[in-house]
Amino acid sequence: MRILLVEDDELLGEGLRAALARDGHAVDWLRDGEHARRALSGDEAWDLVLLDLGLPRRDGMGVLRDMRRHSDAPVLIITARDRIEDRVEGLDAGADDYLVKPFEIAELKARLRALGRRRGGRAAAEVRHGALVLLPESHEAQWDGRRVELTRREFALLSALVENAGRVLTRERLEQALYGWSEDVDSNALEVHIHHLRRKLAPEFIRTVRGVGYTVD
Ligand code: CA
Repeated sequence: MRILLVEDDELLGEGLRAALARDGHAVDWLRDGEHARRALSGDEAWDLVLLDLGLPRRDGMGVLRDMRRHSDAPVLIITARDRIEDRVEGLDAGADDYLVKPFEIAELKARLRALGRRRGGRAAAEVRHGALVLLPESHEAQWDGRRVELTRREFALLSALVENAGRVLTRERLEQALYGWSEDVDSNALEVHIHHLRRKLAPEFIRTVRGVGYTVD
C-alpha cells in the first residue's frame, strides 16, 4: 500500500515509517497539518492515510474534513485523545478507524489489513484471483496450490494489480504504490518486478497495456 503518514512526533513517526516500510509499504511522511492538507488536495493518491490529530499549523480534524470533500481514501486516526466525544467526532468527520496512543504496532498492522480488505470489498483475510492466493498477514503467495516466494516489492505490486483487477493501472500509479517520496526509483525498476512476477506465476497473468501500464484481467 502507499501510505501517507501525518505525524509531528519525530520518534513515533520514524518508528511507524520504518515498521511499515519493512512490511513493504511505500510511506510518505508529513509532519504538519498544512502540508498534509496541500498534499491531499493535489493529484497524488494514497491507499491509506494515518492521521494524527494534534498537529502544527492545522488540526488533524480540519485536515480530515477538507480531504473528505474530494477523497474517499481510508483514514485511520492515531491520537492520544481518548475521550468518547473525540472518537465520535473523528468517525463522523469521515475517519474509517481510530487508534488511541500508545498502541502496539501489531494492532496498527492488523487494522491496516482490515481496512485494506474492506477497500477491496473482501471480508476474508486472503485475496484470491484465479490461480493466485495472497495472504497479506504473512506476505505469502500461492500459485496453483504451490507456494511462491515473492520479495516485498513484488508482493506489493501484485496486491495493487489484483485489488484493481479489470482496471489498467498506469506506470505512475504502480510506482506510487511501490515507492515513497524519499526513494530513488530506477527507470526500469517496475519492468524488472513485472518480469520476475511473470516468471514466478505465469507469463500471461499480468498483461501489458502498451503506452499505459499493466492490468490483471
Ligand atoms: Ca501530535
